[in-house]
Amino acid sequence: MNIRELFLELTTRTYPSGTEDEIFHLLPQGIIRDFSGNYFIEIGDSGTIFTSHLDTHGDTIQSINHRFSGDLITSDGTSILGADDKAGVSLMMYMIHHKVPGLYYFFRSEEVGCLGSKEIAREMNLENWKRVVSFDRRGTNSLVTHQSSIKTCSQDFSTSLLQQLRRGGLDYVVDTQGVSSDSLSFIDSVSECVNLSVGYQNEHLTTESQDIKFLERLARAVVAIDWENLPTSRQPGQREWIGQSLVKPKEYKAPVKSKTEGEIPKKPSKKRFKKRLNLFGSTREWGFWTR
Ligand SMILES: [Zn+2]
Repeated sequence: MNIRELFLELTTRTYPSGTEDEIFHLLPQGIIRDFSGNYFIEIGDSGTIFTSHLDTHGDTIQSINHRFSGDLITSDGTSILGADDKAGVSLMMYMIHHKVPGLYYFFRSEEVGCLGSKEIAREMNLENWKRVVSFDRRGTNSLVTHQSSIKTCSQDFSTSLLQQLRRGGLDYVVDTQGVSSDSLSFIDSVSECVNLSVGYQNEHLTTESQDIKFLERLARAVVAIDWENLPTSRQPGQREWIGQSLVKPKEYKAPVKSKTEGEIPKKPSKKRFKKRLNLFGSTREWGFWTR
């Protein structure tokens, strides 16, 4: 599987939130659309959820004309490139092709407030899942351990993952400056939630670029990582902010019922968790957060 060709195919046009179904024909065979409009496929037996998002920033459909300069791919300057997050999508398709065990989730509507991932975090039984890895971060060396100042993974986990990346020839470092992305939706139910750089820069702008050589290196590295044996030590739901001690979360209020037609992966739970933890106050407030 050629990552470069795959990336170029996925970035021939923009996919604003709400148009994600139009990319279906490019997604892996056997992929399933869930009740919310996200797409998923499960490979093997795993405790890992890998995520990326299908939508691009902005609300107009535009075709993208690629320009090439060394290892960098950009648009012609009249549109964004959409490497945020087709770089992550390409990477996950490469991993699926190489049969790396995991639940692969391609979310809708990340750019307008992580709507797809929030709905899944609310409806899916996440008991048996240990880690969420979102391939969605600018640059070439960030392991995002905090979002909006909230710690989303343990130090054991980040240290081990950094070691494994280093083994693959990639020098990642801890990045505590994350804002909000799909992995944040899962921090009350899943222990270790992180984002990794996938080689784009200037996301959301017409100067957006993708380091395609880096993405190829990253693809080779992630298929060699032993994801299943990474340590799990953060207590889901635990709140630890940068520079603050643990804070007990508030009681969760009953979520708004969503439509339930379509599929939910892995032991869908009809009854909701008895006790849930409130994330950040009202969900409306949270909806305004974008990357
Ligand atoms: Zn993104």
